[in-house]
Amino acid sequence: MPAPWTWPNRARAAVSLTYDDGDGSLINEAMPDLEAVELRGTFYLHVGRGDVKQRAADWQAAHKRGHEIGNHTVRHAGRGEPYMKAYGKLPDWMPLPLEKFTPKMIDDEVTAAADWLRENIGPDPDRTFAYPCGAVAIGDPPDEKSYDAAVLRHHFAARVGGADGCVNDPLAVNFLRIASSNGDHYGGDVAPLIKPCEQAVAVGGWAVIGFHGIGGTNPTTERAAHKTLIAHLHAGPYWVAPVKTVARYVQTMLEQSRKK
Ligand SMILES: [Zn+2]
Repeated sequence: MPAPWTWPNRARAAVSLTYDDGDGSLINEAMPDLEAVELRGTFYLHVGRGDVKQRAADWQAAHKRGHEIGNHTVRHAGRGEPYMKAYGKLPDWMPLPLEKFTPKMIDDEVTAAADWLRENIGPDPDRTFAYPCGAVAIGDPPDEKSYDAAVLRHHFAARVGGADGCVNDPLAVNFLRIASSNGDHYGGDVAPLIKPCEQAVAVGGWAVIGFHGIGGTNPTTERAAHKTLIAHLHAGPYWVAPVKTVARYVQTMLEQSRKK
């Protein structure tokens, strides 16, 4: 075991900022905020969205500037059951829930998005995946193995969703279940964004924050709060890097320690 664990640049914690779905505000507002202090994020594109396709050139340019452009599938299917329980019907944007997927269907789904990204954004052997709606199983009863197999054919690591305050332990991380803290806090409160980062410092861990829109047309997070978080990270003992970069670092460190 690598003890004590070390992060690059003598940082006391790693932080990855992730942004799901591909809202235009992420190009217009989140990226400039990050780049103002030379940071890079991970943007998981729901590639079936019309506005994502329309701005493919902007997403490609972001990839070239060092942001990670990750896979968030074509159709963004989640589990239907929570919606059926709460509302008695599926949301309009999810006509086909994961319960109805076969192993071949999920493989086709992940592959189609991986192909679109390779062709329109550019090849990236380290590109990671984010499970839409944080749902990790197809079929009924739930089958995680087939979904994971489809992801692993194209990606070495994947992020799951959105609880508050969880931190990944680099010595125990499951690369297909990289946990994230919910970054969507309506009303501009920055404390819930900074808290998981400080928790990561306390334990030498890896915090991953999951945002959707920043300011603009879909302000799940106010831009001022986003800027305050970035200033905190820039001034603090953090290594801020895309998910793929931190995951590869952790993987390499663990492999080296096993060889010793
Ligand atoms: Zn999503």
